[in-house]
Amino acid sequence: MTAVHTPGAPWVEDGQLVSTNPATGAEAGRFPVASADDVAGAVERAREAGRWWAGLGFAGRKARLLRWRALLAQQITELADLVNRESGKPAAEAIVEAIAAIEHVDWSARNARRVLGPRKVRSRPVLAEFSAHLEYQPFGVVGVIGPWNYPVVTPLGSIAYALAAGNAVVYKPSEYTPAVGQWLVDSFARVVPEHPVFEIVHGLGDVGAALCRSGVGKVAFTGSTATARKVMAACAETLTPVLMEAGGKDAMIVDSDADLDRAAEAAVWGGLTNAGQTCIGIERVYAVEPVYDAFVTKVVERAEKLTVGAGKGADIGPITMPAQLDIIRRHIDDALARGGRAVLGGPESVQPPYVKPTILVDVPEDSAAVREETFGPTLTIRRVRDADEAVELANAVPYGLGGSVFGRRRAVAIARRLRSGMSAINSALTFVGMSTLPFGGVGDSGFGRIHGEDGLREFGRAKAITQRRGPSVLPAQTFERTPKDVDRIVKVVKLLYGRTR
Ligand code: NDP
Repeated sequence: MTAVHTPGAPWVEDGQLVSTNPATGAEAGRFPVASADDVAGAVERAREAGRWWAGLGFAGRKARLLRWRALLAQQITELADLVNRESGKPAAEAIVEAIAAIEHVDWSARNARRVLGPRKVRSRPVLAEFSAHLEYQPFGVVGVIGPWNYPVVTPLGSIAYALAAGNAVVYKPSEYTPAVGQWLVDSFARVVPEHPVFEIVHGLGDVGAALCRSGVGKVAFTGSTATARKVMAACAETLTPVLMEAGGKDAMIVDSDADLDRAAEAAVWGGLTNAGQTCIGIERVYAVEPVYDAFVTKVVERAEKLTVGAGKGADIGPITMPAQLDIIRRHIDDALARGGRAVLGGPESVQPPYVKPTILVDVPEDSAAVREETFGPTLTIRRVRDADEAVELANAVPYGLGGSVFGRRRAVAIARRLRSGMSAINSALTFVGMSTLPFGGVGDSGFGRIHGEDGLREFGRAKAITQRRGPSVLPAQTFERTPKDVDRIVKVVKLLYGRTR
């Protein structure tokens, strides 16, 4: 049966998920839709493979993950072309994305033993006769559910770390980017052909829901806040722990001592890269009074030069999800109806499947364009009295993912005050490729961290071991203690902890 489908959106035909390019409609691939039994089978195979993978130890996994990293680097243009064919993302932007992903595979492979491996930790005086040991053991199978907007770096930000920690992975890619997901799995199987350590299941949201209920040890979810709630509810049924990377509405603050050219360049790139379909994309800018006019002029000068189209060399590609066009249009219309002005673009910028750059000013703070995730190549810029007002407004939305600050003297202090998981000073988005730093949000943007040491620890269970190394001087934890022992213990405790400093 051939279902009626929205042009540019994937559809299911004869049990196959058909993925197409949103700009041209050209087919990018067909993949069998997994049933709940298929999901269970994939998890079971992964569980078996995971035992072998865990048994390789950190060194064995590192060697294989570095071979995978090398293959990804060698085939980076092939991968970027596929991202371009399937999601419409300009190839140069897909290369930038793949570089960050490769960096994460490299770092997680090289650092997993140091962060997660067995180590001795210090004992405390009251239990001095015991040594203390800590290690992080794999969950077995980790389920990863990913979005379409960054189909390489977003899933790999979880997958690489989960694998390095010794887990097998079952991955459910977005229905909009199954071909890229399949390519990643196939490339891994080329360097690790022995067992299906990294499995994939294709399909729509119900396949993701089946993965949540499949008995995996943990679910790492990246996607919208609305779906994050459903994933958490499904995982709650089996107490499956979750890592939530959800939506954002990131702000940039431009202070009075900012380099305005750099700030405008970063606002335009940070806001409009990937046609604005970026979880950590800049969607709102707060520029202080003395620099506001010059900043807006510089942003418009740059944004109006950007090329929009399906070509590999275009700056801005199509909107990947057709339904998003209505949201973008609604945000622009609402902003203008409520007193905002478009200093570049406007309602006429929405020309499906494209949206041309649109810069909005004087938009009320309670409008949809300021409070909801727009996910299009639009920016709101607001004039503020000073950095304090900028911080207050930046923090006044339920999201708290990333953000950016341009300035000199106060920049670090402002960055600290932003209610978000990450801040970039005098740049935008740069923290995503910094594999030594954790990545994740607060509030409606989710919880838990991918990347860096915290990202590795998300994919291991802390295992604590104490070991006796001598007789107890203060035998508290035994029924064989005497009243004299208890007196001595009380004396020691008062001596150790009875002081106020
Ligand atoms: P969605 O929430 O629509 O989908 C995310 C994934 O969840 C998809 O694979 C989807 O499958 C799957 N899914 C849908 N319903 C369910 C369900 N009931 N149970 C389990 N899984 C389900 O997000 P998008 O794909 O549209 O991605 C865009 C969003 O992702 C934006 O909000 C963006 O900000 C956010 N994002 C966050 C990032 C971060 O690191 N914080 C990074 C990148 C994006 P299907 O596609 O088949 O419906």
